[in-house]
Amino acid sequence: MDPRDTEVWEPEPTVVTPGADSAPPSDAIVLFDGSEVSAWRHLDGRAVEWRIESGAVIVVAGTGDIETTRAFADVQLHIEWRAPQQVTGGGQSRGNSGVFLQKRYEIQVLDSYENRTYANGQAGSVYKQYAPLVNASRRPGEWQSYDIVFAAPRFSASGKLETSAFVTLFHNGVLVQNHVGLLGATRYRGTPEYQAHPAHEPLMLQDHGDPVSFRNIWLRELGGAGSRDISTRKKA
Ligand code: MG
Repeated sequence: MDPRDTEVWEPEPTVVTPGADSAPPSDAIVLFDGSEVSAWRHLDGRAVEWRIESGAVIVVAGTGDIETTRAFADVQLHIEWRAPQQVTGGGQSRGNSGVFLQKRYEIQVLDSYENRTYANGQAGSVYKQYAPLVNASRRPGEWQSYDIVFAAPRFSASGKLETSAFVTLFHNGVLVQNHVGLLGATRYRGTPEYQAHPAHEPLMLQDHGDPVSFRNIWLRELGGAGSRDISTRKKA
């Protein structure tokens, strides 16, 4: 066989300029650049009442979860978070928040530095589904990163699950979830279960009562799936 017979030239991969360090690449959708939160809202449509300080957006307890005003399917997501330096409480009551993919599938955010809790509920877990492979947590008060590859679930027209959601997660650059198949939407009580939902859904960050900070939030849409403006969708 001629070696040229197995060469593929078309289509040529699109050129993307990578960001320096953790800066977004040129084709990223920036969801928070440290200055303003117009890409977000509370679930009832209110403007975001979390605090912006020194380039971070910080949970204000009691104001509620926030979601993006655009909805996404398959994504590569980068997000940085920081648990409060001042340690109060233990277990699940220490730097708790969450990154909810498609508003349903929680990647746990928790101060898991020398803070034992159930393994499938610590930082880097798919909450109540998969413990992280290792605990790659930094100390409270230090910035940490999640790099997530998410494949959204597929449902048939009649609402039957065709393909599970899949998650790969790097915590501070360390692989902690390796293409795990999600069992359904995150549940605090009971076992996870899928319920059909739109192909595109927003990203959500949790107000769990702790002043967790976030910064440098960006994603890349995968599979050519264009995001959707959902500002006209009915409120939750
Ligand atoms: Mg949480």
